[in-house]
Amino acid sequence: MKDVLKQKDVFFDVHCHVFNYRDVPDRFLGIRIPQNPFILSSIEGILHRIIRVSDKDRFSNYGYFVDFLKSRSSEQIAEKLFNYYTEKNLIICPLMMDMTQGIEGKILDDFRQQIEKMKDLRDRFPAQVLPFIAMDPNNPQMEENFRKVFSDKESYKFFGVKIYPSLGYLPSHPELMKVYEICEEKRIPVTAHCSGAIVHSSKKRIVNIRGFHLMPDGSFSEQVTTRSFKKKADYAQFFNRPENWIPVLERFPKLKLNLAHFGGVDEWKKLSRGNSDNWVNRIIDLMHRYEFLYSDFSYTFYSRRYSKILKKMLTENSLIGSRVLYGSDYYMVVTEGHFRALKTGFSSIMGDVLMKKIAKENPLAFLFA
Ligand SMILES: [Zn+2]
Repeated sequence: MKDVLKQKDVFFDVHCHVFNYRDVPDRFLGIRIPQNPFILSSIEGILHRIIRVSDKDRFSNYGYFVDFLKSRSSEQIAEKLFNYYTEKNLIICPLMMDMTQGIEGKILDDFRQQIEKMKDLRDRFPAQVLPFIAMDPNNPQMEENFRKVFSDKESYKFFGVKIYPSLGYLPSHPELMKVYEICEEKRIPVTAHCSGAIVHSSKKRIVNIRGFHLMPDGSFSEQVTTRSFKKKADYAQFFNRPENWIPVLERFPKLKLNLAHFGGVDEWKKLSRGNSDNWVNRIIDLMHRYEFLYSDFSYTFYSRRYSKILKKMLTENSLIGSRVLYGSDYYMVVTEGHFRALKTGFSSIMGDVLMKKIAKENPLAFLFA
């Protein structure tokens, strides 16, 4: 890795996923998805045939997604991603997901097995893969997993931590606070999902939620609470909102944190319509307050419209310009279109100068400072 970084041209995709059907509960998207590559193949075929004349419609894109999901291994998924990029010295941050606690349903490979597979992938591509381990405080093995993958005595050599609150926990859960303390001290980067909740806990009612949550008057309460959720927006509003990170950053102001997706398309829509009460502005506010607060534009980057707004922001505001990171959210984002087309479309809107900033300089600071 060190040798690669010495090269002049490095290009980071700080947000991607390489899990396959073996790593997710069969109900992780709310409907039961068969965990069998042959059945997945025939579903893919059906999706492609719904609108026969087109291979760019919604259903074809879902088929394209299923094609990734049914892959034999994460190695195969990573290799496809390497092929999509023409940039020299690509470095990727595959983010793990621990859905074993938050989502009911059958899973073929438990989280421990997934960690071993991620280690194998890193060993296969040591100069290109910086793995992020998922931390779920509802998983009794969380702390043990954390210590193992970051231990100097072990050979896991993981690189960062991934948080996904809508799986049913607050960012400031006391067990996570212990993790951040070490992350801040050892300069381990943390990436947290900060957008809608397509993936969320399968529980309608979640009991004993620990950590700080936002009250209607804008203050925080540390009272253990029980909540009911009806729709996915309810999970997002309670768990994923950027303000939930304030109590964390107050305690660990030098924590390297990436609030992923920059709020997500729904919040960019509010921004573009002149509604200033949106997560994009909240995240920008946090950038002003905390030195190591970053935001990747992954997934959201499929939108040409919002990419143009981002470009204007990056050009006009040097602080935002130094905190935005390039990430794709491969292969979740293929539900919006073909990966190569999305990636090329975004790069040409941004232009070489800004791409160098968000895909090289800013990631270097987030990952290695
Ligand atoms: Zn993602």
